[in-house]
Amino acid sequence: MIPKSHPRYESLMTREQIVEGVEKGITSIHGLIAQGRGEAFDYLLGEKTTKSALNAEKVAAAVLLLAKKPVISVNGNVAALVPEDIINLGNTVNAPLEVNLFHRTEERVNKIIEHLRSLGAKNLCTKSDALIPCLEHERGKVDSDGIFSADVVLVPLEDGDRCKALADMGKTVIAIDLNPLSRTAQCATITIVDNITRAIPNISGFAEKLKNTNNSELQRLVKDFGNKKNLANALDEIAGYLASRPS
Ligand code: ATP
Repeated sequence: MIPKSHPRYESLMTREQIVEGVEKGITSIHGLIAQGRGEAFDYLLGEKTTKSALNAEKVAAAVLLLAKKPVISVNGNVAALVPEDIINLGNTVNAPLEVNLFHRTEERVNKIIEHLRSLGAKNLCTKSDALIPCLEHERGKVDSDGIFSADVVLVPLEDGDRCKALADMGKTVIAIDLNPLSRTAQCATITIVDNITRAIPNISGFAEKLKNTNNSELQRLVKDFGNKKNLANALDEIAGYLASRPS
């Protein structure tokens, strides 16, 4: 049991959630490594949502509200860390959830679907009858009514290859990745450099606020956003944070 007074309480609890995910069979063992890499970048950000991340989260909410067919991709780390938040976001922006795994096994896909359903998820895409072009078979499997035909896909934690393959299909890809230098971060249309534990509730909050905003105002928000510039800002924020720390 980790005491609440521990200075790294939140980070350690997050780690526990991932370990629990592995034990339950919903998170891949590789998910532990991904989490470790994420934690290192979160440290460099001061473990807080930066200005550039908040801006990307707002734009992501606008894009999801404007989408004709948005889909939210869920992997084993997302299912372990933010299952309720991701269900809530799906309900808010009217987007189904689709389990999409890098190390795919039908057993783990089904376990995650069950896990999400047990927490109240109703809108799920569960077929695997289509393939994302240019990816090998198992990594490319998706639902023809879900990710395959979506116009906007939110991929919290994605591998660079698949992010690129989705972008190459002409989709608007929203990625959440603490590493602003990853291929995923570079390939996505909108990259949110933030921890998913903070990013998903923030996107939901913006979506609630923007729900009654007219489309032209939402479109203006999207038009004013540039991913390259936003990623450059994220790197500046890291450098600024490091420079401001007492030696
Ligand atoms: P790429 O293929 O995109 O270059 P990679 O090989 O680093 O990236 P993976 O190891 O597949 O990618 O995925 C892990 C990525 O997810 C890392 O970039 C890491 O920063 C990010 N990540 C891990 N945990 C979190 C989290 N909780 N919130 C946000 N991002 C996270």
